[in-house]
Amino acid sequence: MSTKFKIGKYLISTVQDHISPFRDPAVVYPNVPAADWDPYRSFALFPDGKAQSQWRGHVIKLAGGGKGPVVLVDTGMGPGPHAHTGRNGEFLDNLKGEGVQPGDVSAVVITHTHGDHIGWNVTWEGGKPKATFPHAIYHIAQADWDFYSAQSPKNDAFEKQVRPLKELGRLRLVRGQIEVAPGISTLPTNGHTPGHQCVLVQADGQTGVLTGDLFHNVAQVTEQHWCPTFDWNTDLSTASRRWLLWRAHAEGWVVFSGHLGSGKSIGRVVERNGRPAWEAV
Ligand SMILES: [Zn+2]
Repeated sequence: MSTKFKIGKYLISTVQDHISPFRDPAVVYPNVPAADWDPYRSFALFPDGKAQSQWRGHVIKLAGGGKGPVVLVDTGMGPGPHAHTGRNGEFLDNLKGEGVQPGDVSAVVITHTHGDHIGWNVTWEGGKPKATFPHAIYHIAQADWDFYSAQSPKNDAFEKQVRPLKELGRLRLVRGQIEVAPGISTLPTNGHTPGHQCVLVQADGQTGVLTGDLFHNVAQVTEQHWCPTFDWNTDLSTASRRWLLWRAHAEGWVVFSGHLGSGKSIGRVVERNGRPAWEAV
């Protein structure tokens, strides 16, 4: 059970920010009858039947140390304090615990612009925004930019944590698959949001994929048509989920999930009783 894993020359580590409130799966997955959870209850839900997500990002850097790209994938929910716990986000402290200072980060990739993935993008001081990772270019899908920048009323998290990056000259809008560092590229998996993207890491014959919100609960690795209310387009999100998880299984990719529990969030898609299932590494 790990919180970090090596893909060839790269080490990919989870960077914990905070925990979500407990949620009722009947509210989050309104199309899934309660009885359909039964086979998954023991490991996908808490004993009281509730679900809880971790808010995190990941950092990718050279496993052996030395000079090389430092890529952040998502930046958590932000400093807080968060109403459901009264505590602050811990993203920067945990990043420093991985030996990475904000100024070391060379690129940020945002899987999608929901509030729990962009929270540490920008730091506000005296009413002025500055990039929290001052030397990084932030990569965001053009389709998410177009959708969320046109929302009315304005999307508060987007306006505070994404739009300022443009004026600060730190934003690169992404269409399709682009390489952000050697062997590290975006991979469109639209549906959760219009521009949702995974990050593919290929090094020394191994492949890892960081999946953002392609799935929120471990049961969705088996029940790939289950969609949370957070999915923008459930036909598209289901197609993306099936496609990515099938490739991950077929090609033996290591999957770094966005929201699964700490220590169980990195895994492989295996076959169990003739169906796809999650196996933490
Ligand atoms: Zn999320």
